[in-house]
Parts: sequence; structure tokens; C-alpha cells
Amino acid sequence: MASINPNGPLKGRTAVVTGASRGIGEAIAARLAMEGARVVCSARTAESGDSKLPGTLHDTVDRIRRAGGEATFIKADLSVAEDRERLIEQAVEAYGPVDILINNAAVTFFIPVETFPKKRFDLMMEVQVWAPFHLSQLVLPSMRERKQGWIVNISSPAGLHPRMPYARRSGGTVYGMCKAALERFTTGLASEVYDDNVAVNVVSPGLVDTPGVAVHGLINEQTRDRVQPIEFIAEAVYRLASGDPKTLTGKIEYAEPFLKELAVQPAELV
Ligand code: NAP
Repeated sequence: MASINPNGPLKGRTAVVTGASRGIGEAIAARLAMEGARVVCSARTAESGDSKLPGTLHDTVDRIRRAGGEATFIKADLSVAEDRERLIEQAVEAYGPVDILINNAAVTFFIPVETFPKKRFDLMMEVQVWAPFHLSQLVLPSMRERKQGWIVNISSPAGLHPRMPYARRSGGTVYGMCKAALERFTTGLASEVYDDNVAVNVVSPGLVDTPGVAVHGLINEQTRDRVQPIEFIAEAVYRLASGDPKTLTGKIEYAEPFLKELAVQPAELV
């Protein structure tokens, strides 16, 4: 049965999870708390009524605390520089220096290139690429000083180049550009901070049933049978957020094969 282990491998570690008001971020927050991490959950939706979509930071924190875990939330809009700075400042005030940063939040518009508005392009790049970059800049000095840190960026197979035969026009080019940039950032940063014992990795989820995916209507008759349980993503993130930075860094991991390679089954979530 799913439970919190306060003395788990992440005991005493501070984790920040972005996009934790719902979907994959909520699952990751729960999974890290299960191993003893003190989890700072962040997003814009603190309470119901703040968003039209289901899920709030309050609910995520409540879910973890009810199971006996440690979590708090900090409301922040990742498209705003001051919010990103405040997020890390307040996370450190609450639980101490950040050991684990999970860059999961994303805003996505599926629009063909020809008509993609600049404003939306900038917003996607800001939230999906620049925010992970900036948040990493904010946590790295203390990680390097303490010779300990794990950064996991959540990407997507959309970051791969389209291959023939091309699927029908989906408008996913900008999304793919963001994720490709995030992946290249990950491997580049991993090489920069290798000597400081900081691991930087990517988990690339398959199709997961989340409120965001529902908005875009991505689950249908053609795709339903390849929907991946959310536990797979949470498990893969936990493994990369607790591995040996000397061997488990600079990886772009697809959850299912990665877990198979480690010979682990995804844990049920609290
Ligand atoms: P989701 O249900 O749409 O949730 C997105 C999260 O990001 C929410 O918590 C949202 O919170 C937050 N967010 C959006 N804009 C934000 C902003 N400006 N500032 C702060 N937080 C913001 O998404 P998901 O499906 O769980 O996806 C999570 C990650 O997995 C994304 O990086 C996505 O690209 C990736 N991914 C998902 C799938 C899938 O099938 N689900 C597949 C491949 C990759 P608020 O609205 O409360 O701010």
C-alpha cells in the first residue's frame, strides 16, 4: 500500500516541483514526499476558483500532509522573473537550501507555424525554456557549494524531429522547439556541473492523462491504448532525483524503458 517513509532516501532534502497544482507535477510531488523529501509545490493555482482546470496547490499539499508527508506551497507565475526569484527565496526560507529542482510546468499552444502569434511563442519559451534555465541559475550556487544537487527537467517526445510519413498537421512545432531546447540545456548543464556532483537529467513522458492533455483533446480512439500511467513518470523522476550524480547525469530518459533498465516497478502514489 502507498505510504510515506519519513526516513526514506530523500530524508532531509528540499525539493521544489513546478507545475504541482495538477497532473504530472502533482504526482511527482507526492512521489518525492513518499521518500521523505520536504516538498515545495509551485504553480499559479493556489485555491479552487483560481483556474478553470481541476487541481490546486492546496489540494496537492493536503494530499501529501494527510498521508504523513511534509509539503508546503508557494504560488508563483513562472513567466514573471520576480516570481521565480521569490519562489526560490521562500523555498529556502521554508525548508532550507534546494537539493532537488523539478522543472515540470508548461504552457502549450498547438498552432501551425504560419499563424503562431509572437506573444504566445514568447510565453511558451519563457515558461518552458527560460524559467527552467533561470530557476537552475538560482539553485546552482548552493548546490555547487554543498556538492549535492539534482535537477530534473520534464520534456516530451515532441522534442524529437518529425519523421516520414508525416502525421496530419498538429501545430506542435513550437512545443517541440521548447522541449528540444530543454533537452540540449540539460545535457549542456550536466557537463558544466559534473565536477560539482550535481546531476541534471530529463524525463520524457509518453501520453499521460492529465488536465492539460484533456484541454487539448489528445486522448481519443487512436491514442487511448498508449496512455501511460502517471506513476511511471513520478517513479522515473524520483530515481533520477536520487541517483548517483557521477553516473546518472546528462540522461534523456523515457520513463518505461528507464524503469525496465533499473528493474523497478512504479510505486503506487499516496
Ligand atoms: P498540465 O496538466 O497542463 O499541468 C501543467 C502545470 O504547469 C500546472 O500545474 C500549471 O499550473 C503549471 N503552469 C502552467 N503555466 C504556468 C505558469 N505560467 N507559471 C507557473 N506554473 C504554470 O500538464 P501535464 O500534462 O501534467 O504536463 C506536465 C509536464 O509534462 C509538461 O512539461 C508537459 O510538457 C510534459 N509532458 C506531458 C505529457 C502528457 O501526456 N501529459 C506528455 C509529454 C510531456 P497553474 O495553471 O496552476 O499555474
